[in-house]
Order: sequence, then structure tokens, then C-alpha cells
Amino acid sequence: MGSVEEHHDIVIVGGGICGLATALALHRKGIRSLVLEKYNTIRATGAAIGVFINAWRALDQLGVGAELRTKAVLVPENQDVWRNKNATRLNSCRKEELRCLKRNDLIETLYNNLPVNSVRFGCQIVAVGTDPLTSFPILYTHDGIIIKAKVLIGCDGSNSIISKSLGLKPPKSLTNCVIRGLTNYPNGHNIGNYFLRHLEGCMIFGRIPIDNNLVHWFVDWPYPDKEGPKDPKFIIELAIRQIKDYPAEMIEMVKNSDPASLTFTRIRYQTPWHLVLGNFCRGTITVAGDAMHVMGPFLGQGGGAALEDAVVLARSLAEMMPMGYFEANASDEELRKRIETALKNYVKERKLRVLRLAMQSVLVGLLMSSPSKVKRLVSLVLLILFFGGPALSHTQFDCGHL
Ligand SMILES: Cc1cc2nc3c(=O)[nH]c(=O)nc-3n(C[C@H](O)[C@H](O)[C@H](O)COP(=O)(O)OP(=O)(O)OC[C@H]3O[C@@H](n4cnc5c(N)ncnc54)[C@H](O)[C@@H]3O)c2cc1C
Repeated sequence: MGSVEEHHDIVIVGGGICGLATALALHRKGIRSLVLEKYNTIRATGAAIGVFINAWRALDQLGVGAELRTKAVLVPENQDVWRNKNATRLNSCRKEELRCLKRNDLIETLYNNLPVNSVRFGCQIVAVGTDPLTSFPILYTHDGIIIKAKVLIGCDGSNSIISKSLGLKPPKSLTNCVIRGLTNYPNGHNIGNYFLRHLEGCMIFGRIPIDNNLVHWFVDWPYPDKEGPKDPKFIIELAIRQIKDYPAEMIEMVKNSDPASLTFTRIRYQTPWHLVLGNFCRGTITVAGDAMHVMGPFLGQGGGAALEDAVVLARSLAEMMPMGYFEANASDEELRKRIETALKNYVKERKLRVLRLAMQSVLVGLLMSSPSKVKRLVSLVLLILFFGGPALSHTQFDCGHL
């Protein structure tokens, strides 16, 4: 029996934040797409996500900002407590709009705003090729289906098979890992309405309210073993070991977390020079989100940048191929040229933005958690010289209208 062959206009690989946001952005422009997700349901790992003003602008363009704002309180203040053996120093700053969303809320809202059958679950892409006749991409699924697409967008995360097919280098791993969790306080948490981070040596311990009852917390520190624990009991034990000298209410918070929310993650990042040198589109294939620019969590901007990518990519495609263009029977040659121009415009528009974010993320990461005083000092100087300091100027970015 021969293989099943399908034809689609736009295929998005990966149904995470970026893939769903890209499909929604295209939908808002009247352009149909199909998302292929390897897991059998929508799922969001990592408990919660900090969403800054730049990401809210993108969510507003996607038409889901108002709905999502009802799910998380505004967190107007950031407090960084720098601790060492001799002293404690507090840095406090105000933010324009920061809310911390449960990842499930974000993913579900994006998904629920898509037309039915926009996402095909349980569909893992195992290889990518090019159709020798049309030069359009061909995808091969784990269960033997061949999918021919006019446009292929890789939103398949930091281990992206689409990035590999473009010849991009895999991201690097830091020795740091992060444990994240959610803790529910049925009678209210009373922790204050601010994002608190304790920075001590190479460790960062933070917490941020999601609403009046739910708190997101994380511990980030160097962890030598490649694999971390999977059992929630051991994940909690490991987190508590890092913060054993902290106030009892903080240890209680970690002890009482929802076991289902706990994750252990090794931090991965794409080097800034890779972003300068990398070719993020070839023919009618491109990448977005972590597949393009995975970065450490130090700025809390990976997901925000993925939402911006979605808006810019859909806008670029819609400019070259307005609603109904795919159905208008243009020749393959004409179609390919237009798609290639759209993808080049998208990459050109995003490159500097994600390069700046990646550089800032590396420098802020070094400043916050490097054991070397020299590296911290150099990072601070570079942040001041190139970014006006370690503050949050990157959150002012506006990706523009859809
Ligand atoms: C510790 C930590 C804290 C963070 N905090 C923040 C924060 O506060 N704010 C923020 O904005 N960002 C934050 N980030 C970054 C953010 O989580 C990511 O940038 C974001 O999740 C990227 O989304 P994505 O859709 O590009 O990738 P992913 O979320 O990885 O989604 C990729 C999807 O593709 C699917 N997939 C993969 N391969 C295939 C395949 N071959 N076939 C089919 N499907 C496939 C996967 O199953 C997955 O659903 C943080 C990251 C970390 C590690």
C-alpha cells in the first residue's frame, strides 16, 4: 500500500505558545493554516509565564489580551534582593504591565480562539525535505504520512527539527537548571503584589503572584547532573535544599506546591553570534519562537518574543498574500516568490530585536548568577553601554499592528 499524501497551504510544526499564536495571527488575517503537534493534547510545561507589556501588545493584536488579563493580577513592582555573607541590598523598580499567567491559561486561550480542526494532535514530524518538482517543502510524519506544504513554519521549540533542516546550530546548555512550581493558598496568600527575586551567589529564588490565591515560584542554580529528578517529591526536596536558610513561609510555599505543576528544566540558549550568522529562512521554510531564538529565562522574554514573531510573521505573509490569494490559482513560481519575499521580510524585521534580547539575556544571566566578580562587572558595564543598564527597556518594544 502506498503512503498517504496530503497537501496544505501553510503548515506550522509545534502547538506551543508560538505555533498556536502564529496560527491565530494568520486566522485573524483570514489565512488558513494547519498546526501539527506531536503530543495528543494541548499541554503547557513550566507552570507559569511572566508576560510583559511588549507581549501584551502582541496578545492584544491576536485579540486575546482582554480575556487573558482577567486571569492574572497586575504586578506593578519588581524587587531584587541581592544577598551575600555580609549584606543585603534591595533594588526595586516599577513595571508598565507585568502579569504572570498560568501557562495552561495562555495555551488554552490561544487554542480556543482558533477555528476547529486547526490543530492535529499526535502528529510528530520526523523529517523534512524539498519537492524536486515544485521546490516546496515536504514533511514526513512518524506514522508514514507525507505532507506537502506551500509554507512551512517551524515552531517546534528548542530541539527543532525544522531549524536543523535549515542548517542551524543546536542551542547550548547552561549548567544552570530551574525548578518551577505553583502553590495555591485557599485563603489568600498575602505575599504582596510584587515580583520578588532573591539573588545569592549563583542562585536565584523568585516568586510572583498569579492571582489572590495562586503563586508561581522558581529556583535557578547550577546543577551538574544532566538529568534532574522526575518524581515531584524529589523535585521539591531538591528545591528546598537550595533555599534551606530562607524564611519558613518561603520553604512552606515550596513544600505546599501542586505536584502536577512542578518541573525541572535545564536552561538552553542560542548564542547571539549564531543569531547574527544563522539563516532563518530557506525557500518557503522559516522558524519562529524557541526554534529560532531560545534564550535563558533571565529576562523572561522567550515567550514574549515568540508572540511578537507570530504577529510579524502573519503580517508579512498577509502583505504578500492577502486573504484568498492561496485559492486564487497563482502559478507555483509566482506563489513561491511571494512567500520567499514575505519570509525574508519577517526574518529581517525580527533579527535585530531577537539579537538584542539574546545579548541582554546572556549579560543579565551573567550579572545575576555568575560566580566570577569580573564577569559580573563586565556584564554590568556592557549592559550600561549597550542597553542603558540592566533595566527593562526591552519591554517597551512594540511589534506593531497585525
Ligand atoms: C525556566 C524558564 C522560565 C521562562 N520564563 C519565561 C517568562 O517568564 N516569560 C517568557 O516570555 N518566557 C519565558 N520562558 C521562555 C518560554 O517558555 C519559551 O520561549 C516559550 O515557551 C517558547 O514557545 P515555543 O512555542 O517556541 O516552544 P515550545 O513551548 O517548546 O513548543 C514547541 C511545541 O512543538 C512541539 N514539537 C516539537 N517537536 C515536534 C515535532 N517534531 N513534531 C510535532 N510537534 C513538535 C512540542 O511538543 C511543543 O508543543 C522561560 C523559559 C524557561 C526555560
